[in-house]
Amino acid sequence: MLFSNPSLPLPLKKEGKEVNYVGRFAPSPTGPLHFGSLITAVASYCDAKANRGLWHVRIEDTDIPRIYPGSEDHILQSIHAFQFEPDSEIIFQKDRLDIYEDVIQQLHQKKMVYACQCTRKILGSNHIYVGTCRDLALSFDQQAIRVKVENLEICFQDVLQGQHCSNLATDLGDFVLKRRDGIINYQLAVVVDDYLQGMTHVVRGADLLDNTERQIWLGELLDYPRLEYIHLPLAMNDQGQKLSKQNMAQALDLSKPSELLQQALQALKQPSVELDAPNKMLKQAIAQWDLNLIPKHTNLDGFYI
Ligand SMILES: [Zn+2]
Repeated sequence: MLFSNPSLPLPLKKEGKEVNYVGRFAPSPTGPLHFGSLITAVASYCDAKANRGLWHVRIEDTDIPRIYPGSEDHILQSIHAFQFEPDSEIIFQKDRLDIYEDVIQQLHQKKMVYACQCTRKILGSNHIYVGTCRDLALSFDQQAIRVKVENLEICFQDVLQGQHCSNLATDLGDFVLKRRDGIINYQLAVVVDDYLQGMTHVVRGADLLDNTERQIWLGELLDYPRLEYIHLPLAMNDQGQKLSKQNMAQALDLSKPSELLQQALQALKQPSVELDAPNKMLKQAIAQWDLNLIPKHTNLDGFYI
């Protein structure tokens, strides 16, 4: 059963007071953290703390073949070096696969998932799955599992990016929750853990905007409450590409956390903070945090690292 082992001893109260904001930083260990990751960590942390909320760290490591050796350690060392203070123990999604399997079973009982035997070759370059296997009632063994979508437009109001909409059927199609090789898809693990951790706000990079409607749809199928979304503009390199592991963004240099913290706050257009110990800088950044100052674009134009 899903909730027999929710396994998350998370406080919904802090110092005896109820909290109305629970946020998170949820990196994937597919490479070391880079400056773009730091911007997300800083913004999610400051926004949660400025709202007297809780902040959790979650390692999104279900895609085991893509884990880059040493990057989980680098994430943990970064949290320590920047002196962030998570409000719970850091959780690792690869320890929670049974929970996601249970949710797939819940969706199966609602007749909202099915096995798909299409190979990459059959799917070809079609980005939108046309539902070939929807009515074949294939066994779930060793097949990809897809969730059904309806011909429905989902919209949400992003705090920074404004209204964002997708039609589930014509823009996205039935999407994969579990791959044929057994790997749980990011979309499912995110939605389930955001719910189980009591998340209220999602602060993350604008490169994830297009995932949001799928995640809202999954949440609605599972009767989870809707979240607030804050998609941050992305830091770019000097060739105008977003910083990413794919284009070899530099790993955060943990020997100079204060300087990097100062740059991250500059990138977010926050009032300046003098160099000091990271926890003191974060405290000041929280005190003067203003979400409205963050550029309302998907890129941090003119800010290069
Ligand atoms: Zn199929």
